[in-house]
Amino acid sequence: MTTAANEARIILNGLSASVGAWSDAGTMEARSPIDGSVAGRLVEVGPEAVEAAVAASVSAFQAWRRVPAPRRGELVRLLGEELRAAKGDLARLVTLEAGKIVSEGLGEVQEMIDICDFAVGLSRQLNGLTLPSERPGHHMRETWQPLGPVAIVTAFNFPVAVWAWNAALALVCGNPVIWKPSEKTPMTALGVQAVFDRAVARFGSDAPEGLAQLLIGRREVGEALAADPRIPLVSATGSTRMGRAVATTVAGRLARSLLELGGNNAMIVTPSADLDMAVRAIAFSAVGTAGQRCTTLRRLLVHEGVADALIARLKAAYETLPIGDPRAEGVLVGPLIDEAAGAAFDRALERAVEQGGTVVTGGGRVEAGGGVYVRPAIVRMPAQSEVVMTETFAPILYVLTWSDFDAAVAMQNDVPQGLSSCVFTDSVREAEAFLSAWGSDCGIANVNIGPSGAEIGGAFGGEKETGGGRESGSDSWKSYMRRQTQTVNFSRELPLAQGVRFEV
Ligand code: NAD
Repeated sequence: MTTAANEARIILNGLSASVGAWSDAGTMEARSPIDGSVAGRLVEVGPEAVEAAVAASVSAFQAWRRVPAPRRGELVRLLGEELRAAKGDLARLVTLEAGKIVSEGLGEVQEMIDICDFAVGLSRQLNGLTLPSERPGHHMRETWQPLGPVAIVTAFNFPVAVWAWNAALALVCGNPVIWKPSEKTPMTALGVQAVFDRAVARFGSDAPEGLAQLLIGRREVGEALAADPRIPLVSATGSTRMGRAVATTVAGRLARSLLELGGNNAMIVTPSADLDMAVRAIAFSAVGTAGQRCTTLRRLLVHEGVADALIARLKAAYETLPIGDPRAEGVLVGPLIDEAAGAAFDRALERAVEQGGTVVTGGGRVEAGGGVYVRPAIVRMPAQSEVVMTETFAPILYVLTWSDFDAAVAMQNDVPQGLSSCVFTDSVREAEAFLSAWGSDCGIANVNIGPSGAEIGGAFGGEKETGGGRESGSDSWKSYMRRQTQTVNFSRELPLAQGVRFEV
């Protein structure tokens, strides 16, 4: 029987990806969390490979920045077309290598397509301002210039979409990209690179060599990219621990980092909330992708008057959740990525009990063909103790109660992570307070919809320390460009700043 990992390898062969990437001497295992199978070993690079990759990227930048932006958009348009053609294969790779259920794999590739569409339009709208000058016979304008090579470091749980969020914008902005994917998902990265190469083949020779490079490697490769002074922007998606390390290195050389980090996302449920809708939103956002989304719902802050009714309904829903092989029809909860994630799930539940929590449902393993499958858990907690304040990348929902809405908002904000948040209420007053300057402090704030499932049109969540709303839509493109204020004197005078006289 074909193992899940071997199925991925067959798909890669079909995409003509990873030619030469496999070797018995390779040091990176390509595995599937579905059954723990290994497709083979991939050749990986170490930090020493960063030198040549960045040199090639710098050289690609010299050429790519001269290509008009709408023409750069044409490459991204072709990429969108190739992604549409390869959608089934790429989505299947996401399922096989990251363990997502089929609809989530397809949804992730759709996000890549959506950001391409967004970026194509953007390639004709990298607009700056014209500014009134105080000096006679002068005009001033603001121009957005390409920045340079962009490093993209990605996490295992969005193994393809996050590259696309960054690459589509970086490319139309005039920048080459270097991608360091997660060491847990190298096969999907090889698949994406093959699809990109198809777009380049159709585009023509004005796409320079080294425009989009892939470095299959580990953390040390990410560290070397973060440290390289020729890279003006490092976009890194992953844990808060990783973000802190990257931000420190990049700030140390006065360059720019774009960080999408961990989430400890909450939902506030008020007495007026539509509980039918809330139950569905909670189940989807707390157990989807087996709790391995940055936007997974981890904290349910529910009014004490509706808590028992809501928890009873959630318990019933959780106890019938279909858990197992994510390829199977009807399954909603697939595997955790690896044994370490399973151990972190077990340990967090133990800590929750030590900290006064009561497990309402879930915990423990489900035997399903060799992967790490856990039973999503709901735990009632007396307070936001240490374990509640920590992002455990697994399906654990902590439930806390409140009696005062302002206290609930304060509780929502009282964690170090600040990615996504939501409130379920039929009260305009509560909804607007949640969205106000003194409401949610997260990069994403929703009303009557769960915290997960963002659209590419809005900037994504960021992290509250970094100001929220970072990669993807809105005006995120400005992070991939440098702003230049230009002044042209078309008079025959040389007026200096107002009030300054300087005769020579
Ligand atoms: P991780 O932080 O372990 O690894 C992410 C990537 O960073 C990997 O490619 C890894 O090799 C690299 N890396 C690790 N340490 C590094 C360092 N010091 N310097 C440079 N690179 C380094 O994260 P993970 O386990 O792959 O993914 C899960 C985490 O990612 C969760 O915390 C999740 O919330 C977060 N995430 C956030 C978003 C978002 O958009 N905000 C999206 C997906 C995942």
